[in-house]
Amino acid sequence: MTARGAVGGVYREALTYARRQFEAGVPQPDRVRALETLLRDVWPQVREWKYVCATCDDIGRRVVACPGDPTCGRRRPHAAHEFVVPCGCRFGDRFRRDPDRVVDAIPAPPRTARGRR
Ligand SMILES: [Zn+2]
Ligand SMILES: [Zn+2]
Repeated sequence: MTARGAVGGVYREALTYARRQFEAGVPQPDRVRALETLLRDVWPQVREWKYVCATCDDIGRRVVACPGDPTCGRRRPHAAHEFVVPCGCRFGDRFRRDPDRVVDAIPAPPRTARGRR
């Protein structure tokens, strides 16, 4: 059976089940709960998604908090901010290859109180 066919079958069964419960006079909150339990039991499982990289959740970038010191590469004291860097995993490779993407992703640091950087 194809995945689409399996899902369609589950859907039809669920609708039939819900209608029977309705006709039997089961209160709505109980019907909803029962339907959810049924769907969780029979929904075709393809596979559980597992992230390869726990640091970036496979996005390829991670957020670094800069307290306003040289953490981000700026030498002058400045307001605290966050910036993103390519993750060290393989998902970060595309951002290392294409530095413009990384630049785009970095929010402009807030100006200091004097309006100078
Ligand atoms: Zn990563
Ligand atoms: Zn900084």
